[in-house]
Amino acid sequence: MNIVIRDGHIIDPSQGIDGGGDIFIEDGKIKEVALHKTSSHSKGGRRQGNDPELRVIDAKGLIIMPGLIDMHVHLREPGFEYKETIQTGTMAAVKGGFTTVCCMPNTLPVNDNASVTEFIKRKASQEGHCAVLPIGAITKEQKGEKLAEIGTMRNEGCIAFSDDGQPVTNSLIMRRALEYSKSFDVPVISHSEDLTLSEDGVMNEGVISITLGLKGIPVEAEQIMIFRDILLAELTGGRLHIAHVSTEGSVNLIRNAKNRGANVTAETCPHYFSLTEEAVQGYNTNAKVNPPLRTARDIEAIKKGLKDGTIDAIATDHAPHHRDEKMREFDTAPFGISGLETALGLSLRLVQEGVLSLRQLIEKMTLNPAKILRIKKGTLRPGMDADILVVDEKKEYIVHADQFISKGKNTPFEGWELRGSPVLTMYKGKIYEW
Ligand SMILES: [Zn+2]
Repeated sequence: MNIVIRDGHIIDPSQGIDGGGDIFIEDGKIKEVALHKTSSHSKGGRRQGNDPELRVIDAKGLIIMPGLIDMHVHLREPGFEYKETIQTGTMAAVKGGFTTVCCMPNTLPVNDNASVTEFIKRKASQEGHCAVLPIGAITKEQKGEKLAEIGTMRNEGCIAFSDDGQPVTNSLIMRRALEYSKSFDVPVISHSEDLTLSEDGVMNEGVISITLGLKGIPVEAEQIMIFRDILLAELTGGRLHIAHVSTEGSVNLIRNAKNRGANVTAETCPHYFSLTEEAVQGYNTNAKVNPPLRTARDIEAIKKGLKDGTIDAIATDHAPHHRDEKMREFDTAPFGISGLETALGLSLRLVQEGVLSLRQLIEKMTLNPAKILRIKKGTLRPGMDADILVVDEKKEYIVHADQFISKGKNTPFEGWELRGSPVLTMYKGKIYEW
């Protein structure tokens, strides 16, 4: 079926497009982007009137952008299907406006060899609702001891490597991983955490951790590892990507490294620019994330980093858990929240607050992750997969975890009023409407 999305405000940073127009889709691919000023001569205008096979979607008053890319999710399959599956996780992704998700390897078994990678890809092609790009482990079983089969996993389709959830404590192994990343032209994603400093910590170290009697994680636990990994990236020339940046010091380290020309990119997550450690008050396990929520000062620094380009991408670190697990005491509850279905609404607050332009925000959720991962996504160029998102910027809604498609109902944003919501997500021409 041929489809046209008409009369929307099209924003595609990859082509510098920002204006009213129509998008034509044929056989699951983008056929043409016809901007209104120049569309009087386009074939598209004539096609619309008399083609009975053409489905017309009216996008008047709506924003049309490339489908979002989330370079950091945990789909939990294989091994933890009670938390999430590839089917439920990708459906949640599509609901949140994402058409590509990259899944971290901390499954059971760990994605540390080509057979697990192959399993994930096969499951995704059978049951997935969007593109699933696997991230392979850096070390076998993510134990930090021996390098995993990076080359064969790369050939099987892994687009990056990370031990996310765990740091690579051994500096020599991280050095080797970065050397590999250079030869395979893939990023190594650093979960930056010095375990000797963070050990047993459950929230940010500060006044609130003291008053609550909880063990704190100092910002240095993150920053020391970021600094080490930047130095190793500079030593090797490998491509380093810093996951879930949460502190002012981290932003400064990355900014300085970029100024020196280091091969480093970075992401943050909506919760790190939306919430402070105050959210933990009352021992709220739905605010337990790793790295932990920090302070207002850190939020300001992260916003500044997003604005000046120090932080390239916004990812969710979608980390769903079963409700019972989050019902435990704060100390023993697992880290992580369900992020796919709140990410866009929370990120649009940056635009509403004037931190980013809408185009900059879209860049950080489409073009930039595509560039970091070197994937042919995040663009509305003719010939590419018709991965498209239509957003109603004005639509207000209240976050209710019960309405999440994700199996993970754990969110610190319950009851928040957000503005801006996906109304239609298209993945390879397939339409999901909300
Ligand atoms: Zn992590």
